[in-house]
Amino acid sequence: MSRYRLQPSPGQERALLEHCAHARFVWNLAVEQHAHWKAGRVSAPGFAEHCRQLTEARAAFEWLRAGSIIVQQQALKDFAQAMANFFGKTHRRPTWRRRGRDEGFRIVAVKTSEVRRLSRRVGELRVPKIGWVRFRWSRAVPEGVKSYRVTRDALGRWHVAFAVIPDPIPAPGTGAVVGVDRGVTVAAALSTGELLTVPALREAEQTRLRRLRRKLAKAKRGSNRRGRVKQAIARLRARESDRRKDWVEKTSTDLARRFDVIAVEDLKIAAMTRSAKGSMQELGRNVRQKAGLNRGILANGWGALVKRLEQKAPSRVRKVNPRYTSQTCNGCGHRAAESRESQSRFRCVACGWRDNADVNAAKNVRDTAAGHAVAARGGLPLGEPANREPQRDLLLVE
Ligand SMILES: [Zn+2]
Repeated sequence: MSRYRLQPSPGQERALLEHCAHARFVWNLAVEQHAHWKAGRVSAPGFAEHCRQLTEARAAFEWLRAGSIIVQQQALKDFAQAMANFFGKTHRRPTWRRRGRDEGFRIVAVKTSEVRRLSRRVGELRVPKIGWVRFRWSRAVPEGVKSYRVTRDALGRWHVAFAVIPDPIPAPGTGAVVGVDRGVTVAAALSTGELLTVPALREAEQTRLRRLRRKLAKAKRGSNRRGRVKQAIARLRARESDRRKDWVEKTSTDLARRFDVIAVEDLKIAAMTRSAKGSMQELGRNVRQKAGLNRGILANGWGALVKRLEQKAPSRVRKVNPRYTSQTCNGCGHRAAESRESQSRFRCVACGWRDNADVNAAKNVRDTAAGHAVAARGGLPLGEPANREPQRDLLLVE
């Protein structure tokens, strides 16, 4: 990850803290509004409404008005994205940000001229309302920086992380279509039969993480020992997240190079079907139980993978309704929940076709994208959710 140590002057540090406080304030306000919202009431405010409220709040509070509207608006955009991720089942619900622990803000639409190198080891970037802030040029800054996030860790150190939107990768031009299914027993299954797993922490690292967690529970609050244990845990977590990001980059590049069209399930529709009561809920529970090492990708890697695919293969990604893709036989089109013998095995009750369950689903995703409506082909509506609740939530964030 391209993270660099920021070196603000004391004056700049105060201004950066203000930016953080504003971003946190705006974020928490949005969290609170969504917490009070209950099913049946008028919808909780979306991004546009939040922006209108921000304008009002800025008019009312001198403190907020003095800050950067860019920082404040971006915090709202990040919140809207966080809610979309939550409804898409790729992330947890956004939570309250605490002072001193979740300090940070994001700046987007960064121009090339706003990041520059001063000397071999020193660079600087332009922060709204603050001006040029120096950072340690510890490695090459990637070309085409589009946005950055400034953060302050619990030890008071400042960092900047640059985000780059990757260039599109040319299609192979073979007409090849691939279906990618968010697997239950693996991170992702391809319609080619490939099963992809995300590199997670190794056995020894996991053992170490468990031991550190026990230590942390025993350590006295505020002690040096506790601080050290916390840091060690954070390092392991960072290693895990680096591996996951690396996997997302490699996998998305590989798919964009090999296939003309990449079919994936539509996360919004997936959220709707998966949160519905009935047989799909059963599957959802099993996902949580059995995901094991792949929990990471289910938690936040899948959304990242799809996003990268859309950047590397623009207009070549097809999002399809995932409904019934796991219950429909790719051989004969018969749909029955019983055909899914277990998490990993699919055996059609009608024709006896056998396949890995995730691969069978990936093939259905591929065929749906290619224009064959999987859900419409034969079979009894066994997978019909028994009691579908209105999915109001999905209307909130666009
Ligand atoms: Zn069949």
